[in-house]
Amino acid sequence: MREDGAVEDVSSQALSEARTLLAQSLRVTVFTGAGISTDSGIPDYRGPNGLWTRNPKAEKMSSLSHYLEDPEVRQLAWQNRVRSPAWDAQPNDGHRALVKLEERGVLVALVTQNIDELHQQAGHQPNNVVEVHGTMRYSRCWSCADRRPMQETLQRVRDGEIDPACLLCSGILKSDTISFGQSLVPEVIERAMWASENCDVLLAVGSSLSVFPAANVVPRAKAAGARVIIINGEPTKMDQYADVLLVGKIGDVLPAVIG
Ligand code: NAD
Ligand code: ZN
Repeated sequence: MREDGAVEDVSSQALSEARTLLAQSLRVTVFTGAGISTDSGIPDYRGPNGLWTRNPKAEKMSSLSHYLEDPEVRQLAWQNRVRSPAWDAQPNDGHRALVKLEERGVLVALVTQNIDELHQQAGHQPNNVVEVHGTMRYSRCWSCADRRPMQETLQRVRDGEIDPACLLCSGILKSDTISFGQSLVPEVIERAMWASENCDVLLAVGSSLSVFPAANVVPRAKAAGARVIIINGEPTKMDQYADVLLVGKIGDVLPAVIG
């Protein structure tokens, strides 16, 4: 951001339109993706430095069938979980800017595809955050659904178990997140869709808007009469629905539009 409050590369007209829409709205639903957490040191999947952009094979680890069928995929996944930069990550200016919407009393819900819990750490009430893809902070048994803090399970990996099994039923453990090929939790995605259909502004931040059904929040909001603001560093699959499109760095643009 420049000293005069303008943001490099983003049209000042688009910025002021977004500011006005947000300032006038009494019901804002926010939808976030991995791009809001890259400034906290957690890579996204499809951005220029994304995990899949740099290593297309990494996509396999996010596929449910590969994970359940291939012990080597699971072993690699456990090593990645132990080493994840998310454990030391702190919320950034983008996360903090969104908390202001909650403080003003205009936030319907913060729907996130992220699994890192940085929105809650930034100060959101946990029950305002709808985690459509789950959380990496718990592990869950694929067979009996036993759920416990991920750090307990990661300690077993650090102690030498390469593919820790469920302590209750010996089933396969994974993180309590939604893998590709896995169904979403019906009540959670229904709440996300309800929030998108009951807002007057839908603000989508840091997502390629290409993962479904989550990305449907955008056309749903539009069809229900909401104005749509999209903030992302590159084009998204939903740009045609945007009333205001802000292509730029989230850490600059988001604090500038929320104020
Ligand atoms: P994505 O990787 O598909 O898209 C992220 C988008 O953010 C990209 O278009 C990228 O250009 C943009 N971006 C990245 N940093 C930015 C910045 N500083 N300023 C502006 N734009 C920036 O992410 P997605 O749409 O969230 O889908 C990926 C899936 O992977 C999600 O379902 C999510 O569950 C999971 N995921 C989560 C995390 C996390 O929790 N932090 C990280 C990686 C992946
Ligand atoms: Zn079990």
